[in-house]
Amino acid sequence: MKLIRYGNPGEEQPGLLLADGRRIDASAFGEDYNEEFFGGDGLQRLAAWAATHAAGAPTIPDGVRLGPPIARPSKIVCVGLNYADHARESGAEIPSEPILFFKATSSLTGPNDPVVIPRGSEKTDWEVELAIVIGKKAGYVEEADAKEHVAGYALHNDYSERAFQMERGGQWVKGKSCDTFAPLGPFLATPDELGDPHQLKLWLKVNGETRQDSSTAQMIFGVPELVSYISQFMTLLPGDVISTGTPPGVGLGFDPPVFLKPGDEVELGVEGLGSQRQSVVAWGD
Ligand code: ZN
Repeated sequence: MKLIRYGNPGEEQPGLLLADGRRIDASAFGEDYNEEFFGGDGLQRLAAWAATHAAGAPTIPDGVRLGPPIARPSKIVCVGLNYADHARESGAEIPSEPILFFKATSSLTGPNDPVVIPRGSEKTDWEVELAIVIGKKAGYVEEADAKEHVAGYALHNDYSERAFQMERGGQWVKGKSCDTFAPLGPFLATPDELGDPHQLKLWLKVNGETRQDSSTAQMIFGVPELVSYISQFMTLLPGDVISTGTPPGVGLGFDPPVFLKPGDEVELGVEGLGSQRQSVVAWGD
């Protein structure tokens, strides 16, 4: 299944993207895609609902805004420097254990919403990533059992303000949490839709020029390791997001570095998870 949410920010309705490409309204199912939904076997119940109701459900008109495919989660946990080449371009060492940081859940936004350069920012940067959505509460999970805790996957752009992240003291969270810095979607794909999450091409372009072009095969720590590892330090709740890190080609890695400015267009995708497009706008516009 491919889950979508559509409508105005904060008023999104649930929907489904069907195999034939039709987008249907699933509001008659009666639940948003949130912690309660994922934790209460919502995916199985939604599949049963779709089997009898999808054919007759209203079609979502073209041009309607897509929101993030899940309601605001309890956590967005990100993994830093999880591609060896990206660690090198950042001048960092290859991590021996996953590096974790948080992104404020208020940064979550729709896949094609504009990205707002924060007030006072000069170093807004892009990061195409594969995101995991947790389907079942996870605490002290073994790697072998990790996939039972995964609801599915989605495309994520882990926008980052490099000065806020690295020049303002303390942790990375300051540079990762600005409003609009977490476009997610266009859809959440359940694992059966995707095949091996460690064999997916991922790419990002700025103004039509390719900046990132890699494969999740380059990840240092894979999906089972990450779910298990993170669950040793915190309880992952249904609907939580883990963003698995970005490959080389971020603006910070260029010499001299290249950052986003108002008017730029960012496009990105992960194989099997669709694509996003964000227009870059100035704060206050
Ligand atoms: Zn990242």
